[in-house]
Amino acid sequence: MFTFPRERLNEARKVLDLKYPVSVKITSGRKTRTGSWRFKENRHYITVSKMQSLNEINKTLWHELQHAADYENYLSHDFPKKVAPVMYRSFVTERSARNAEKKYAHFWLAVPSGVRIQAIHF
Ligand SMILES: [Zn+2]
Repeated sequence: MFTFPRERLNEARKVLDLKYPVSVKITSGRKTRTGSWRFKENRHYITVSKMQSLNEINKTLWHELQHAADYENYLSHDFPKKVAPVMYRSFVTERSARNAEKKYAHFWLAVPSGVRIQAIHF
């Protein structure tokens, strides 16, 4: 079992300069994706599969948080907000998110814990 300590998440928020709130949900997706990100009604929704090693869980969360950060940068440009999510998909690459996995590999957002978390909002 693991948890994402709130103070680490808040540090990550500062590092990535995130403005919008983030909801992280822990899933048990085994064959499906390791994680996902979407933006809806001014909030980031991230999922992280718990069926991974702690190291992979950490990488996945950084990956998805980088998507969130890149999207906020994108929003700060003058694109119509309504079409932004669709346009974003063709605009952004996975490269930035994969780089974040490496860049922040030693910044642990996931730590072992005796408590099982299902979701955290920050
Ligand atoms: Zn991705």
